[in-house]
Amino acid sequence: MNRRGLLIILSSPSGAGKSTLAKRLREWDPSVIFSVSATTRAPRTGEVDGEDYHFMTEAAFKKAVANGEMLEHAHVFGNFYGSPKGPVRDAIIDGKDVLFDIDWQGAQQMTNSELALHTLSIFLLPPSIAELKRRLESRGQDGPEVIDRRMQKSWDEISHWGSYDFVLVNEDLDATEARLKSIVTAARLRRTQQPHLLDHVRKLQAEFEEGEE
Ligand code: GDP
Ligand code: ADP
Repeated sequence: MNRRGLLIILSSPSGAGKSTLAKRLREWDPSVIFSVSATTRAPRTGEVDGEDYHFMTEAAFKKAVANGEMLEHAHVFGNFYGSPKGPVRDAIIDGKDVLFDIDWQGAQQMTNSELALHTLSIFLLPPSIAELKRRLESRGQDGPEVIDRRMQKSWDEISHWGSYDFVLVNEDLDATEARLKSIVTAARLRRTQQPHLLDHVRKLQAEFEEGEE
């Protein structure tokens, strides 16, 4: 039997660094599976269908939700987003961690589900609101109106930071990456992630009882 995989949830206001840190975590450990979300938003330049997101129409998205195919779903910035169930269950039973870049609504749905025992939720805060705006602008992916909308919504997201297991201020990227790896390393050692150790403990018990005789 393997260790159980974690469901690693990363949330933050848009632009705080989720995608960047998700990428670094997967470079550190390529066995971590990225949960490719479904979305009705338009692809950004460079985004690949099936890799960054599964881009779909609103009708297709609603049908998937109605068929029970989404682990969680939410309406964010005027578009629908959801995490397909398919890859998740097999992965965690197989001992693989799955990484979710999702908003607070999705995080809440997952931490209130039967999978709660295996979730690890991490919230990223920006060093300042001015820096958050600078990062959104420097990413160069969204126009000024979209950036304004994301900035207006940033407090909505930040206000839910208190429901997460861990919080990181993403100031220095390398330092945040190191802390993120430490958190994941520790969470993999939670007792609930290591059901296979029951066999080991039974072996210890047998050895102990043998010694008693
Ligand atoms: P980003 O903020 O620059 O990453 O812009 P996106 O349009 O890619 O994502 C907008 C928001 O939707 C972010 O807060 C994401 O974390 C969130 N999001 C992405 N996929 C999902 C999902 O499957 N479920 C939920 N609940 N939120 C998601
Ligand atoms: P999110 O996925 O949360 O919307 P991104 O990962 O796309 O955010 O980051 C937004 C921008 O900020 C990107 O251009 C990224 O390179 C940059 N960035 C991320 N973390 C840092 C950091 N610690 N310091 C400076 N820039 C950063």
